[in-house]
Amino acid sequence: MPVCVSMRKRDACSTRIDRRDACPTNQRAGRPFHYPNGYACGAGKFLYNRSAMSNRAVFLDRDGVLMADTNYVGHVDRVVILDHAPAALRRLQAAGYRLFVVTNQSGVGRGYFTREAVEEIHALLDRQFAAVGARVDRYYVCPHHPEDDCACRKPKPKSLVDAAAEYDLDLAHCFMVGDRSSDIQCGQNAGTRTVLVLTGAGQETLAKGTVKPDFVAADVSAATDWILRQV
Ligand SMILES: [Mg+2]
Ligand SMILES: [Zn+2]
Repeated sequence: MPVCVSMRKRDACSTRIDRRDACPTNQRAGRPFHYPNGYACGAGKFLYNRSAMSNRAVFLDRDGVLMADTNYVGHVDRVVILDHAPAALRRLQAAGYRLFVVTNQSGVGRGYFTREAVEEIHALLDRQFAAVGARVDRYYVCPHHPEDDCACRKPKPKSLVDAAAEYDLDLAHCFMVGDRSSDIQCGQNAGTRTVLVLTGAGQETLAKGTVKPDFVAADVSAATDWILRQV
């Protein structure tokens, strides 16, 4: 739940509010309230504290963004974490963003590797990220074959929409970072802003020109720089 922190009534107005509710402080003050960013109330300027940031998130594709995409990575021995990825996650988290990895792993549906192998890879990523103080809130995995026509394979936005419901996220203040058209479309389908990174398949995606991300970044570190500059 977001927290309203009025700069004018910082002490009084620390009540947890629902976005549909009026801020009790401003009700008492008899002032009209509005939601300039969908969360805070009142007519003045607002300061977002760490709690208020908790309804923001960065969704990240896995292969080609956080680790090398060497074609159906199904074993921990083949995991190569990209430079700066753990530090980028730590920076985003320190700024108050929740972190979600959203990954299509059709190698499971194709029978190349098991769902358990995917979980082992994510446990390895968790250990590596933890070493720099970063923690992924949750991994959303689509294990299905493309022909299964499941509900969760990117570019379908189900994982992002589910996360928004479970973690009370405002998708308009979230970002999707990926290297393929399906990542960008997924973010756009969910209503997030989008960043195309040029690692993994990113150069090919950019050359194809079939999607229009909000920003194109060299890698997840540069994507982080841009995200942290956004309001
Ligand atoms: Mg990818
Ligand atoms: Zn699926």
